Amino acid sequence: MKATEIQPEAIFANNELNLGDIDVYGFDYDYTLAAYNTELHDVIYRLGQQTLIEKYKYPENILKLKYNPDWAIRGLHYDVRKGLLMKLDSFHNIQLGTVYRGLKSVSDREVKSLYNGTHVSLDNMNTFYGQGPMHQLVDLFALPEVALISDITEYLLLNNINYDPEYVFYDVRNAIHAIHSSGILHQKIMENLEIFLQKCDKTKFLLERLRLSGKKLFLITNSGYAFVDAGLKYMIGEDWGDMFDVIIVNARKPKFFNETSRPFRQFDVASNKQSWASVQSLQKGHIYQQGNFSRLKEMTGWYGGKVLYFGDHVYSDLADPSLKHGWRTAAIIPELKGEIEKLNQPDYQYQVKWLVTLQNLIEDSQHQISPGSKALIEEWLAERDEIRDFTKAKFNPRFGSLFRTYHNPTYFSRRLGRFADLYMSSLVNLLHYSVDHTFYPRRSLLPHEPNPF
Ligand SMILES: [Mg+2]
Repeated sequence: MKATEIQPEAIFANNELNLGDIDVYGFDYDYTLAAYNTELHDVIYRLGQQTLIEKYKYPENILKLKYNPDWAIRGLHYDVRKGLLMKLDSFHNIQLGTVYRGLKSVSDREVKSLYNGTHVSLDNMNTFYGQGPMHQLVDLFALPEVALISDITEYLLLNNINYDPEYVFYDVRNAIHAIHSSGILHQKIMENLEIFLQKCDKTKFLLERLRLSGKKLFLITNSGYAFVDAGLKYMIGEDWGDMFDVIIVNARKPKFFNETSRPFRQFDVASNKQSWASVQSLQKGHIYQQGNFSRLKEMTGWYGGKVLYFGDHVYSDLADPSLKHGWRTAAIIPELKGEIEKLNQPDYQYQVKWLVTLQNLIEDSQHQISPGSKALIEEWLAERDEIRDFTKAKFNPRFGSLFRTYHNPTYFSRRLGRFADLYMSSLVNLLHYSVDHTFYPRRSLLPHEPNPF
């Protein structure tokens, strides 16, 4: 069988989008303009361990724990109260076989008993909806955090230390939060930019190409000026500020997009101070802090479908701009490249084809009552389960693909489909398309529609 090739550097459309209609391009910074190396996660994990020992008096032996970058995948949910890591599908069902306490798999029977089945109600979610105990791993910074939670849970279990999962979750979360908010992590990155940050000449080329095509460019990041300045000088050059018409740092997303409380405040680079003067317009060459969406819209006239915003955080960056303000949105998902390379492998494609064939055979023969056919169906079901495990393990042995459970899109996929018009592994994939390219979503068949091909 000849494998169908999908280009890992392609851009994929959930919704039709004509770049010719876009006048203004906006960007998030971390994991959108700036791509980090995996060494960064190792540092977050280690700083987290140290903080837990120094500030939260965790046993010093937890320093022996080592970060496993392949432990989890983005998009998983962590049940804060039960202390379980798991994958949910687009119907809020737990995918059996993906539930872990510490580093150990939880049996299907225990999962069903803990959740009265496999469905997690909307009230139990806490990202975007509700205040429940199900915390989602939304961005890439969440990977070392959840690895530390799992490793410490395992340590406590192995050493017979009585623990409340909720304390462990909040201790680790607060420890990691402190690393971000205290500036320790940013300092470490700035001191070793060449280790942590990927230098990509194409980013500068892309921004220049957009400018030369007459597009307006802006940056909205939650990070502070010194950090962003150091990173962009390294990636793009001393003149990085010339690329952008508006630069907003410390933006407080997602509040930036849904609260009107904070006005913009000018930050003076030379004196390293913020000004007290009221900001009446946003000028090129100046740096602004905080602010909010309504003021941005009033001062620039940029609104709705002529703005395309790129971000990696499906909720903070993309949900409100797309749902409330009608901006067009694009998600940067670095994991996509590796997943597509696996999808392109002939053995994977062969197994998926056989899986679909088997499923059709099982469905068509399910009412056969002869003993021979019953045994055959059992055999097919067992084979189907084997192929399901094979296709899952291709991506991650515990949690499978970011985008799919056995037969449904994941919870993450569903949110991505709702909030992002486009998605891609890297911002620079845009260089493969002209500035007036129209992206068309694949016309997928609804279950009741006939297949015309
Ligand atoms: Mg980001």
